[in-house]
Amino acid sequence: MADAETLRLRIYRQLADEGRVDRLGILAADIGEDERTTAALLGELERNRHVVLDERGEIELAHPFATRDFGFSVKSDRTLWWGGCAWDSFAIPHLVPGASPSLIATTCPSCGTAHAWVVDSGNPPAGEQVAHFLVPMAHVWDDVVHTCENQRIFCSEACVDEWLERSTSPRGDVFDLATLWRLASHWYSGRLEPGYRRREPTAAAAYFRDAGLTGPFWGL
Ligand SMILES: [Zn+2]
Ligand SMILES: [Zn+2]
Repeated sequence: MADAETLRLRIYRQLADEGRVDRLGILAADIGEDERTTAALLGELERNRHVVLDERGEIELAHPFATRDFGFSVKSDRTLWWGGCAWDSFAIPHLVPGASPSLIATTCPSCGTAHAWVVDSGNPPAGEQVAHFLVPMAHVWDDVVHTCENQRIFCSEACVDEWLERSTSPRGDVFDLATLWRLASHWYSGRLEPGYRRREPTAAAAYFRDAGLTGPFWGL
């Protein structure tokens, strides 16, 4: 009988290889279970924060991968992925074999300017843009879709300020692309392998500090 880890690996390996994941019926057939059992295993994966399901019960996020637009495309020479946010997108070239380098593209949430970088696992990309994360780490999982939708890259601090004013949101944390790249570099290490154990953002103080992040936003 298949367990949740078998299903998790089936999902993550397809997302890594193809940038997409099959619907429930095909997942069920592949792991040799009926749809009802497979839906229960998906629910277990969601409770353990390995996937986020949409209202139809299909996979919306399996960090760092998304199955719809969250503002970022990530393209290697063989696969096109939806990145779940700035953090997730910059993680894909580190996590997926063959994904370094990838072309990561987005638009500034404030002014709509298009931005793109070639991101590899060796060195951070050049660029004056800044990342803004809205939701503090202690609250990331309160509504993780909202969290990912608001981890974006802006032209500049001025664009962050204009966007915050328009959306009447409190400021989160702003940092440069090199810091984003370091944050993303090892966060998801091991996620494509059996027996992976998730990192909790609330328990990752040393990791964040090493990436160059500080302050209460990061639990520091
Ligand atoms: Zn802008
Ligand atoms: Zn994310």
